[in-house]
Amino acid sequence: MTTYTPMMQQYLQVKEDYKDAFLFFRLGDFYEMFFEDAVNASQILEITLTSRDAGAKDRIPMCGVPHHSAKNYIETLVQKGYKVAICEQTEDPKQAKGVVRREVVQLITPGTIMEGKALDGKTNHFIGAAEQLDATTFGYAYLDLSTGEATASSIEGDGKALLMQMQAYGIRELVVTESLQLLLAEHAVNLGIVLSVEVDEMALDKVMNYVDAVPAQLQVACFRLLAYIDKTQMRSLSHIQMFTFNEMKNYLRIDSSSKRNLELIQSIRGGDQKGTLLWLLDDTVTAMGGRKLKQWIHQPLATRSAIESRLEIVTDLLEEYFVRTELQTALKQVYDLERLAGRVAFGNVGGRDLAQLRDSLRQVPMIMQQLLESSKDTLQDLGNALDICADVETLLARAITDNPPITIKEGDVIRDGYNDRLDELRYASRNGKDWIAQLEQEERAKTGIKNLKIGYNRIFGYYIEITKSNIHLADLARYERKQTLANAERYITQELKEKEALILNAEEESLTLEYNLFVEIREELKAFIPRVQALAASISELDVLVSFASVSEKYRFTKPAFHAGRSLEILEGRHPVVEKMLNKQMYVPNDCVLEENHNMMLITGPNMSGKSTYMRQVALIVVMAQMGCYVPAEKARLPITDQIFTRIGAADDLAAGQSTFMVEMLESQHAIVHATKNSLMLFDEIGRGTSTYDGMSLAQSMMEYIHDKIGANTLFSTHYHELTALEKELPRLQNVHVSATEKNGTVVFLHKVKNGAADKSYGIHVAQLAQLPEEILTRAQVLLEKFEAGKEAAAPQVVAEQPVQMSLFTEGEPVSPAETEVLKSLEKVNILGTSPMQAMNILYELQQQL
Ligand code: ADP
Repeated sequence: MTTYTPMMQQYLQVKEDYKDAFLFFRLGDFYEMFFEDAVNASQILEITLTSRDAGAKDRIPMCGVPHHSAKNYIETLVQKGYKVAICEQTEDPKQAKGVVRREVVQLITPGTIMEGKALDGKTNHFIGAAEQLDATTFGYAYLDLSTGEATASSIEGDGKALLMQMQAYGIRELVVTESLQLLLAEHAVNLGIVLSVEVDEMALDKVMNYVDAVPAQLQVACFRLLAYIDKTQMRSLSHIQMFTFNEMKNYLRIDSSSKRNLELIQSIRGGDQKGTLLWLLDDTVTAMGGRKLKQWIHQPLATRSAIESRLEIVTDLLEEYFVRTELQTALKQVYDLERLAGRVAFGNVGGRDLAQLRDSLRQVPMIMQQLLESSKDTLQDLGNALDICADVETLLARAITDNPPITIKEGDVIRDGYNDRLDELRYASRNGKDWIAQLEQEERAKTGIKNLKIGYNRIFGYYIEITKSNIHLADLARYERKQTLANAERYITQELKEKEALILNAEEESLTLEYNLFVEIREELKAFIPRVQALAASISELDVLVSFASVSEKYRFTKPAFHAGRSLEILEGRHPVVEKMLNKQMYVPNDCVLEENHNMMLITGPNMSGKSTYMRQVALIVVMAQMGCYVPAEKARLPITDQIFTRIGAADDLAAGQSTFMVEMLESQHAIVHATKNSLMLFDEIGRGTSTYDGMSLAQSMMEYIHDKIGANTLFSTHYHELTALEKELPRLQNVHVSATEKNGTVVFLHKVKNGAADKSYGIHVAQLAQLPEEILTRAQVLLEKFEAGKEAAAPQVVAEQPVQMSLFTEGEPVSPAETEVLKSLEKVNILGTSPMQAMNILYELQQQL
């Protein structure tokens, strides 16, 4: 065995407990890393790798970061999904016998980091924990360590569905058992979620009251999460709130792929939020409100009374224009109360934070007054329900200066008049400075030296400075020479030194006292955290409701009405995001009427005519309405929808590595298994990812199944014109089409949804629009007529023409077996029955074979 120095043995012992983290080992002013940690960190952080004698034969790798700039390095590592264990000296080196004691004081992980970009204002930073309840159900819990909000819920589906849900909430780290880790590992890597194993559950007595509202089977996940946080943070976390239980039936459930398809929070192209529903609806003015809005989009409501009470408030805010604008003005001045409360609990609150807390609380009486003075009962009720935390504001107003510095050790944090002793000390030091100014005048008068001055430096303290030309006038009976400069002499006097001691002692004592007072106030504030959090919750909801009113006015939304039945009636509905993005052109509004027993629609129409937009607009109106927002329609009379399922294609499915068709089938499977008659289902171009007859048969059998077994409100779009014949067989089904017309020989999209099926030859019209050669268009028309006359007769003819094309490939060099396969597949492609998207898929698959 190698014999390392005692310090290195200590290092190795600590590292034993933190194998999966970078261990930042505090040595003087640096955090050092050794061995493999050093090699890896030096690469990731681009810092120099050195080595060190550690007592053994070979030197060991080492690298380090200065402790004052460690934050950035930690953030970089955590951002990349690593964990960092902070190991500090936990005993005074002067007291230590042998090696100074060192302990890990915090484990910083992707889900628990409390600093840096991860904590963008309008985004929650959640960490989650999950537990498998049965073969198809997972319980999960998540909380935001910076705000203290904690939630528990459950989800039906497989491990991937669970992880996708976690990803939708922006969860970077999920705490699981070892067996669940195995199950989830692969998908977690793909989705960029770090899995952390925690075997313990938190001791029950310690956390029982956190889960009062959570059903027993979900409590395990909560306990596991709390245990992990306790273990990694190693400090009191008094701001963590009771877990709220999101009972699935109280919310409109939208699976994560539908959230993406509908571009609720993220756009399909990824990147920024532009073009999403969140982007459209976000007129919030506080960070808390921004986060709340996101939560509401994630989870629209599904209980009528709750939805209607939000709508009521929006209506009243719309009518009270003045109140609304005054509210927004006041809200703008409110800082992030939730995160400030979190910092108080975490113990990393500074002077400036407390000033922000005070200034925010100062706005609350104005907010309350606006609400109380309005003529609406709902708004008055909101006002009456506010706890304005006047006692906290009073304390902070009395204690904290107007503009305290960020650090708490420089003074200027505690206000004059807050503490008698502090006032005395400050008086002594200020008084002393006045006295010195006075002395300067006196000495000038006594000696007659006009430019005599009293200065201060850290080495000599206060001194009297006299220029060379005047030194003969110095009163050397009293002056003692201290320092000689090129053109001046510096002196001290007995009297000056006595005063100096008084001033410096007073200053030092006052800084210490200020610091202690600050810590006292911080401790005192901890008791108020739940009240500040409750206030923050009310303020953030108000901010979102005001935002709803303001966007509803801006975009001419109207109030939706709900009823107990299942029919859906949207008149002159619009897709609010597409409408906003159109420049110059007018959005063409469309109706959607689904009656109780006539609630499936088959939408036909050329590509680019607006089928997909139409389907999305129906879903968005349902989502917005159940969030409690007004909707883009002249009239909307809606049922309470329990779940939304979408199968809407996107080119990015290919990039995800799975074939489009497989994704399509998986999403369809998920929808068909989970949908109820109260759900809304959207299927865009179902079956398009496979060959014509295959796809058409699948689409038809799916429609029949939904029709007979589920009965959900369903919108289908298709380019299989043949499917329109189903209207005769399925009484719930109605055909509609998105119209296009010809103008000067080209197709003009009208984007208008009309009853009945589309004209069969629209594909050729689109080809015309694309200015394909006239010859091709004419030939297509001829073929179409043949197909119509009977598919059997037409098909062989198409095949018969193909060898002519094939010769292009077969003449010349011999082909490989793979190439032969590709050619065979190519031969089978029915070009006329292939959509552009299918063509892309075929091309992709062929390329894979080569
Ligand atoms: P499809 O699904 O039929 O291929 P999309 O729904 O993708 O067509 O619509 C294509 C484009 O047409 C949209 O990007 C939008 O710009 C425009 N569009 C769709 N519906 C409307 C409408 N109702 N009013 C105005 N423009 C529309």
